[in-house]
Amino acid sequence: MKRSRTRRRTGKQQPKGRIAALTVIAAALTAIVIWIGVNDWDVTKTLERAGLADSSAEQPETGTPADMPAQPGKNEPPEAADTAVPEEPQPQSEPEQAEEPAKPFDGGYVEGQTLPTEPTYVNGILIANKKHPLPEKFAPGENKEARDAFEEMAAEAKLSGYNLTAFSTFRSFEYQVTLYTRYADRDGQEAADRYSARPGYSEHQTGLAFDIGEVNHEKHWASESFGQTEAGKWLQVNAHRYGFILRYPKNKENITGYMHEAWHFRYVGKEVADEIFKENSTLEEYLGLE
Ligand SMILES: [Zn+2]
Repeated sequence: MKRSRTRRRTGKQQPKGRIAALTVIAAALTAIVIWIGVNDWDVTKTLERAGLADSSAEQPETGTPADMPAQPGKNEPPEAADTAVPEEPQPQSEPEQAEEPAKPFDGGYVEGQTLPTEPTYVNGILIANKKHPLPEKFAPGENKEARDAFEEMAAEAKLSGYNLTAFSTFRSFEYQVTLYTRYADRDGQEAADRYSARPGYSEHQTGLAFDIGEVNHEKHWASESFGQTEAGKWLQVNAHRYGFILRYPKNKENITGYMHEAWHFRYVGKEVADEIFKENSTLEEYLGLE
């Protein structure tokens, strides 16, 4: 009898204990929920503090490293925008220089640089820009292949009614001295540097640069307005088929070192010209130059 009562009592005590335990757990959970609410608990932050969350994956930040090389023109002198007409937005620049955002490419001269003894060829292409000058004595004259290509192009342009002429091609070092000095005296060196090369730095000294205009339309020669003429537009979309590229396109001054020149074309051969035209890029970009 005694045993059975004891057993019964024990049997009654078990559910009681379970209820008590559940009550304690429920109370604890309620307390946690209230604590979370009161303290505005941020799961991500807590995980971060614990080193468990990858903060870069979800938290948008101002000024990601990829933004920085997208503004290489920021260090340009303020007058760089003077001649700017409303232009198309610049194609997204590639973030390949993300590691060195403090040194954006400026296309400018390296002060104190002296002229080399040999010209620079990259992938077999002769390059002349503000970073890669030519030897003073380098004087190949007008390039024959480029002249032939120009004549072929001019013949086809004529069928469309445009009488093209190359009003300036090869220019010697000495002639560039005369030109640059004249421009720098007239407009000041800083302004002259944007449209005229210092002696030894002119692409015209390679014999591969052709300044193109229309016969009897001298007012557009070496002028931005040439780009708005029908002949200028024809060249923009056809020159590459003859191996010429528009050497100094719009929005590329920070890369080429020169403001847009609608009349200055450079012979690089059909294959290269075609590629540069399709990519809407520059010789510097095509050759991966800095
Ligand atoms: Zn030119």
